[in-house]
Amino acid sequence: MWPVLKNNFILKTFEELGVAPNIVRAITEMGYESPMPVQEEVIPYLLGNDNEVIALAQTGTGKTAAFGLPIIQQINVNLQQPQALILCPTRELCLQIADDFNDYSKYIDKLKTLPVYGGSSIESQIRSLQRGVHVIVATPGRLIDLINRKTVNLQAVRNVVLDEADEMLNMGFSESIDEILSHIPENRNMLLFSATMPAEIARITKKYMRSPHEIIIGRKNEGAKNVKHIYYMVNAKDRYLVLKRLADYNPNIYGIIFCRTKKETQEIADLLIKDGYNADSLHGDLSQAQRDYVMQKFRIRNIQLLVATDVAARGLDVDDLTHIIHYSLPDDVESYTHRSGRTGRAGKTGTSIAIINLKEKHKLKNIEKIILKNFEEGTIPSGKQICEKQLFSLIDQLEKVKVNEEEINDILPSIYRKLDWLDKEDIIKRLISHEFNRLIDYYQDADEIEVPQERAKRREKGEQNRLASKGNGRTSEKGYARLFINLGKTDGMSPQSIIGLLNDHISGKKVTVGRIDLMKNFSFFEVKEADKDRVIQNLDGIKAFGRRVAVEQASESLPENRKKKTERNHIEKPLTKFKTSRRPHQSQAK
Ligand code: AMP
Repeated sequence: MWPVLKNNFILKTFEELGVAPNIVRAITEMGYESPMPVQEEVIPYLLGNDNEVIALAQTGTGKTAAFGLPIIQQINVNLQQPQALILCPTRELCLQIADDFNDYSKYIDKLKTLPVYGGSSIESQIRSLQRGVHVIVATPGRLIDLINRKTVNLQAVRNVVLDEADEMLNMGFSESIDEILSHIPENRNMLLFSATMPAEIARITKKYMRSPHEIIIGRKNEGAKNVKHIYYMVNAKDRYLVLKRLADYNPNIYGIIFCRTKKETQEIADLLIKDGYNADSLHGDLSQAQRDYVMQKFRIRNIQLLVATDVAARGLDVDDLTHIIHYSLPDDVESYTHRSGRTGRAGKTGTSIAIINLKEKHKLKNIEKIILKNFEEGTIPSGKQICEKQLFSLIDQLEKVKVNEEEINDILPSIYRKLDWLDKEDIIKRLISHEFNRLIDYYQDADEIEVPQERAKRREKGEQNRLASKGNGRTSEKGYARLFINLGKTDGMSPQSIIGLLNDHISGKKVTVGRIDLMKNFSFFEVKEADKDRVIQNLDGIKAFGRRVAVEQASESLPENRKKKTERNHIEKPLTKFKTSRRPHQSQAK
């Protein structure tokens, strides 16, 4: 049985868990304010001696720091030998863990972590090993290679981590793990992290671990809290162009694009691939093997954009997604919640983008009611903005790129000679042109995308003027103030409902109501000047008819800021010019 350990309700600090100040300083700079549950469970335990842990924890739960911080804290930097070994399934994870370790140990002088993985120069890894490292993060295949060449000595290793153990087994590393462990002294601690616990893992734990502490860390779905919801209003014909712009505007995007049908999914993926994006499709028409392959490529970030149907994406468990894009909105709100909950996990922020047309706007309202958040209206980035964003992303990468001096030292002198005639500015210009001419050419010729909303707003503006000139933007009767309310006939408003709102929300002295003009999407009503402020104060901001009500004093024509407040973008037409009797209505006093 797996004991489920509950979190304490009082949040502990890293210091209270026993993490050393120089490590706390480094992780604070990384933005770690308080420990995540897996860290709260694992860190104090591992800081003791001879402690082994099996953790059922998925990526995104903070497990790297859970094993990383105590391991780093226990390293003796004066001993120039590997004292900790982290085995993981992929090159990407290997680099990521090594990067994290380097960040955690920023303030520990001389602590060296070496990532060891296939597909890169083994010689330079051997040279680094010879210079001395304290932590090795390795994929099993490459480590076996190094062991066979007798270039790595694991005799001083005290902590061994099997990270994503189930993935390593899936990838056929079972024998390699056995082989590696046979080169490490038996008095080691072993830590095993896995998202699932298949029988083969039980075999490993039984064979290699003494009496491990077992913990389960459930998925922490912080999605809702950390997700920003944005919609882009487009004409149907521009949907794909807008998708491309959004992808271009977010150079580091790592996301899922949801489509409604298998056909659409395949079409969009094909278009993206044809246009040079790092994309692929995932849907039910693919064989299981194909789906596994695509999911694996996406997990290890060989694919940046995965175009998927809701059903096919179910089997995919990936954290760290930056964006969810709803190329088509789902039919039901629940699917929207599932989709968008795939981003903004593990303390990260995420963005859920809906690309919609005018007719779909009402669906957003239903979604907002369930997710308890409002959509922001996004502005489609212009070609210029996209080019700038991409450019800065490239410059940013240039600044951060790891320069492998040893690898390029030999060739550098001849490169310097060849570029000798160019100064720094020339080289920068050429580099940028080399990378960007294609993008700049594309956006230079691309038409800006027309936003249907803007057209509606233009027509609305014309309508405003027409209304004003016809006297519908009338001035109020003497002694009365004319008020605007963002509810109209489409919301089911009638003169009675306006009076009902006044009755329900305004206590005290009765409010005298004058003329009422009901429009399609908003209305006007007049109240005695003396009641005006009381009415606005009590009605503006309340929830009624499924909407947030906006009430303000109307200007001679429609109030200038109405467009911002009214949430609809339809053309506003005075469908009913409802004439009340000359005698004023009275709201009932309460
Ligand atoms: P992991 O499960 O180790 O891949 O971690 C998931 C993400 O959470 C990584 O981006 C970490 O940098 C981040 N993370 C880990 N621990 C914390 C923490 N205590 N506070 C905030 N972020 C964290």
